[in-house]
Amino acid sequence: MTADPVDPETAAVARFDPVLRTLMTFGLVEPDDAEETNSDEVSRQWRLTPAVQRRLNSLAFPAPPADKLVYFGHRCSSCGEHAPTWSIAGAFFCSACRDRAGDLVPSSNGTVER
Ligand SMILES: [Zn+2]
Repeated sequence: MTADPVDPETAAVARFDPVLRTLMTFGLVEPDDAEETNSDEVSRQWRLTPAVQRRLNSLAFPAPPADKLVYFGHRCSSCGEHAPTWSIAGAFFCSACRDRAGDLVPSSNGTVER
């Protein structure tokens, strides 16, 4: 009945045609000339640009925010206690001192609270 049968994988990928066209329009994908062994365009390989690959890595494996990193082996800069610490403005504070100093230290976005 259908004159142009399409396999399910091709049909699924075709739904992303607008996204793929956008990638090409903005130069986020590029033909991989090294893979071009003949003039047959059907066999041309495409790859994401290095900048896109770096961005995908940062999206897939985001660095944890600084206030979520726990440091071991440091003494608290305030009370001197040997305990798990959090780095705030270059100094290490235990949980209790971090909570007490919360209003006096720079916030997580780098601006100083007043
Ligand atoms: Zn402390």
